[in-house]
Amino acid sequence: MNMKRVYTFGNGQAEGRSDMKNLLGGKGANLAEMNLIGVPVPPGFTITTDVCTEYNQQGKEAVTKLLKNDVEKAIKHVEDLMGTKFGDAENPLLVSVRSGARVSMPGMMDTVLNLGLTDSAVEGIAKKSGNPRFAWDSYRRFVQMYGDVVLGMKPKSKEDIDPFEEVMDEVKKQKGVKLDTELEVEDLKLLVKKFKAAVKERTGKDFPESPWEQLWGAICAVFDSWMNERAIYYRRMNQIPEEWGTAVNVQAMVFGNMGNTSATGVAFTRDAATGEDIFNGEYLINAQGEDVVAGIRTPQQITIEGSRRWAALQGIDESVRASKYPSLEEAMPECAKTLIETQQKLEDYFKDMQDLEFTIQDGKLWLLQTRNGKRTGAAMVKIAMDMLRENIIDEKTALKRMEPQKLDELLHPVFDKAALKSAKVIAKGLPASPGAATGQIVFFADDAEEWSEKRKKVILVRIETSPEDLRGMNVAQGILTARGGMTSHAAVVARGMGKCCVSGAGEIKIDYKTRTIEMSGKVYKEGDWISLNGSTGEVYEGQVNTVDADLSGDFAKVMELAEKYTKMDVRTNADTPKDATVARKFGAKGIGLCRTEHMFFEGDRIKAMREMILAKDEEGRREALKKLLPIQRQDFEGIFLAMDGLGVTIRLLDPPLHEFVPHQLATQKELAAEMGLTIEEVKLACDSLEEFNPMLGHRGCRLGCTYPEITEMQARAILEAALDAKAKGADVHPEIMVPLVGVVEELKMQAEIIHNTAKQVFAERNDWVDYKVGTMIEVPRAALTADRIAEVADFFSFGTNDLTQMTFGYSRDDAGKFLKIYQEKGILKNDPFAILDQQGVGQLVRMGTEKGRSTKPGLKVGICGEHGGEPSSVKFCASLGMNYVSCSPYRVPIARVAAAQAAIE
Ligand code: ADP
Ligand code: MG
Ligand code: MG
Repeated sequence: MNMKRVYTFGNGQAEGRSDMKNLLGGKGANLAEMNLIGVPVPPGFTITTDVCTEYNQQGKEAVTKLLKNDVEKAIKHVEDLMGTKFGDAENPLLVSVRSGARVSMPGMMDTVLNLGLTDSAVEGIAKKSGNPRFAWDSYRRFVQMYGDVVLGMKPKSKEDIDPFEEVMDEVKKQKGVKLDTELEVEDLKLLVKKFKAAVKERTGKDFPESPWEQLWGAICAVFDSWMNERAIYYRRMNQIPEEWGTAVNVQAMVFGNMGNTSATGVAFTRDAATGEDIFNGEYLINAQGEDVVAGIRTPQQITIEGSRRWAALQGIDESVRASKYPSLEEAMPECAKTLIETQQKLEDYFKDMQDLEFTIQDGKLWLLQTRNGKRTGAAMVKIAMDMLRENIIDEKTALKRMEPQKLDELLHPVFDKAALKSAKVIAKGLPASPGAATGQIVFFADDAEEWSEKRKKVILVRIETSPEDLRGMNVAQGILTARGGMTSHAAVVARGMGKCCVSGAGEIKIDYKTRTIEMSGKVYKEGDWISLNGSTGEVYEGQVNTVDADLSGDFAKVMELAEKYTKMDVRTNADTPKDATVARKFGAKGIGLCRTEHMFFEGDRIKAMREMILAKDEEGRREALKKLLPIQRQDFEGIFLAMDGLGVTIRLLDPPLHEFVPHQLATQKELAAEMGLTIEEVKLACDSLEEFNPMLGHRGCRLGCTYPEITEMQARAILEAALDAKAKGADVHPEIMVPLVGVVEELKMQAEIIHNTAKQVFAERNDWVDYKVGTMIEVPRAALTADRIAEVADFFSFGTNDLTQMTFGYSRDDAGKFLKIYQEKGILKNDPFAILDQQGVGQLVRMGTEKGRSTKPGLKVGICGEHGGEPSSVKFCASLGMNYVSCSPYRVPIARVAAAQAAIE
C-alpha cells in the first residue's frame, strides 16, 4: 500500500491543513495551517495517526523500517530551511518531538526539546551562538527530559525520588543558589555529567550519543505513550476511542532561553474563565517551553492591563510590578505588538477563541501551537454570543459551539473563585448534582427540617438516602452521601431539586450514633460547617462563599436560538408546582413525568397512606383512600395551574408499598396506636410486604391491577383537579400514565377503570376535559409487544431507568459496585444509567417506537428516564423522531440545546 505517512511544513508551505486533524492530530494540523496563513512557525513534519495504529499492530521494528526513508527526507527538508545539519558538530539542527492526538490529551507523552544535542553538538551551538551558557542550559534540559520521557526515569509516584531533581538540588546546594537561572556554565556542565551518570546507573546503558538514535527513541516513545496508563484513563473518562492514535510532530527548535532578548509564553485570545474579549497570557524571559506552566518562576503578564490587574490581586505595588514583573508590552514592545497582531489574525481565521504557545528567539516571534481554547460554561456562552453579535459566526455555528452539559454550571449558585483558592479539600465523591453548598452538618432528615426552621443552613450527611429523607433533603443546602452512584436516590432526587449533591464519597466514615463523620483523618461533629462542590465532587472544610447565577443576557439568547432550531420538545419531570414553575422558566413545554408517590410523604399524608396499605380489606382501603383523595386533588390542581396551556403527564402509583410503611419500632408503635391495632399486628403487616426483589415485585400497574380502587382514586383526583383548574380559567391537558405495563391486558384493565371514573366525574360535575391515557414502556416485553399496547395507549413514554435495569439485568441500586470496575476494565464504555446504551436498550426504544407507530401512526412518543437530560441520549431520541424528552428541571436547558443541535447537525 502506498500511503503517505509523513507531512512536512515550513516557510509558508505545508502538505497538511487544519481540517486534517484526524490524520495529523490537532497540533500537527494547525501547525500546517499556520504556515499557510503566513504565521511564523519553525519548520518540521508530522507523522500521521495512522502510523500509530500500524505501530500498535506491527511493532517498533517494522514501523521504523516503514518510516525510515520518509523521516530522513523530512529531516533534510527541515535542514534545508534552517541552514543547519542534524548531528553536525559545527552547525547542528536541534528539534522538538511532540505528541498530538485529534483532541488535546493531558495524559499523553511530554514533549522532548533540544533533541540532537550531543557532547560535540553542544560545543557547536556554544560557538555559533557565542553563548555557552545557553548551549549547556539546553543540553542539561535535554538529557533530563529525554531521561524522564523516553528512558522512563520519571518517578511513577509522588513518593519516588526523581533522580534528576536530586542531582539538581545537590548542585544548587553546593553552589548556594535557588534558581536555575543562577547556575553558570561550569555548573551546567556538571549537571549534564551527573545526569548521564544517573541514566547509566538506572538503565544500565549510556545516554545515546547519536542524534538519529535519539530521534527514533523519541518517536517510538510518543507512540508508546498512546497506550500508557494515564492516556488510557483519560480516554476512558472522555470517551475517546483507542483507534484514533496519536500523531508525532518533529519540529526545529527555536530558543526562548538565549538570553534577555528571548522569552516563551502561552496566551488566550479571550478570557477562558469569563469569556471577556480580552487578550491575556503569561510569559517568562530567558526560559524554555514548560517553564511557564511548571511554576518554577513567577510568570509575567503579556499586556500592561493584565499585568496591573494581576498585581492588584497579588497585592503588589505598581512600582514593584513595573520593575520586577513588567508586562511583555513594557519589556519587549515590538514583539508584543507582533504577538497582538498575530493572536487577532489567528482568532479571525479560526473564528474561535485560541489558546496559543509562542517563543521569542532573540527578538523574533515564533508560534508553536494554536488550538480552540478550553473554557468554562460561562465563557462558552459569552464567547459564542459575542462572536455571533460580531458577525464572526452564524446562529447555527453558535449553537454548535455549546457543550450542552456545561450549561449546567450557569444554573446553580457558584463558589466565589477567590474563595475556592484557599478552601481546604477534606473529601471527594461523585459530582452527582452541580452547584455550591455551604452549611452545618446534620445526619438526620428530621434535624435538617428542625434546624432549617430555625433559619440554619444545613448539609444533610447520610450513608445513603431513601424516600423518607426527602423533606430533609429539600430543606438542606446540599447532600453528601457515603454510598451510591450517579443514579442513586440521593443523586437523582438532588438533580431533580437542582440541589447540590456529592454522592458516594466512599472514604468518609459516618457514625450515626455519635453524630460524627471522619474525613481526611479528622472528626467533624453535627453542627460543624462544611461546603460541597457538586460540580467537582469536592468537600471543603468550613464556609466557602457563593454567588448567585444570572440567567438573563447571553444565556437567554442561547435558549432563544435553541427554540428557533429545535424539532423536538423538552418537557420536565416535576412533582410539585414549584419544580414545574422552575422548569417552565427554563423553557419546559409541559410535564413528561409527575410522580405521585413523592406526594405521599409530606406531613400527615403518610399516615393516610399507611392506613390504606395496612387495611385488611377493600372497604378499609377505600376509607383511607378517601382521606388521600382531597390531598392529591389539591397537589394536582397546583401543577395544572403552573402548567397552564401545556400537557401534564401524571404517573399512577409506582413503587412497592413496602417503601411507605415504617421500619422503626417507635413509628410502628405510633401507627398501631393510631389505627387501633396491636404492635404485633402492625409488625406482621409491614413484614408481610417485604419482598426479595421489590423492584421486580408488587409495584407499578401490578398494584392498580390488584387494588383497582387505588387507580380509581388517583384518576378521580387527577380529573377533578383538572376540572377545578379549568374552572379557574386554566387550559388543562391531563395525560394519565400507567407504569410498568408488560402485557397489554394490564393497560386495558387500567384504562377501563380510568375511563369509567372519568365518565362518573364528568357526569357529577357536568363538565369535562380532554384527557389521554398512555403508558410507560419500561419493561422489555412492552417494547417487544408495543404494536399491541399501542392499540390501547394514546401515548408512550420510555422509562429508560427501569428499561435499562431490566434489559441489562442490573439492579439500579446495586450496580454502582461493579459498574465502576466494568468501566475501568473496558467491559462497558460508560454507565448505562447515565448514558443511554444505544446498541442494546436503544434497540428496544427504537423497536417500541416503530411498532407503536405502526399501529397508531401519530402516536406521541417521549422519554422520561434520567437519560432525557443527557445530550447524546437526547440526540438519539431526536433521531428516532420522538415528540419530546423529559428531564429534571435543571436539565431542561441542556436538553433543549442538545435537541436543537440534533436538528441542525
Ligand atoms: P503540550 O501538548 O503538553 O503543550 P507541546 O508539544 O505543545 O506539549 O510542547 C511543550 C512546550 O514546549 C510548549 O511550551 C511548546 O511551546 C514548547 N515547544 C515545543 N516545540 C518547540 C520548539 N520546536 N521550539 C521551542 N519550543 C517548543
Ligand atoms: Mg502545547
Ligand atoms: Mg419505572
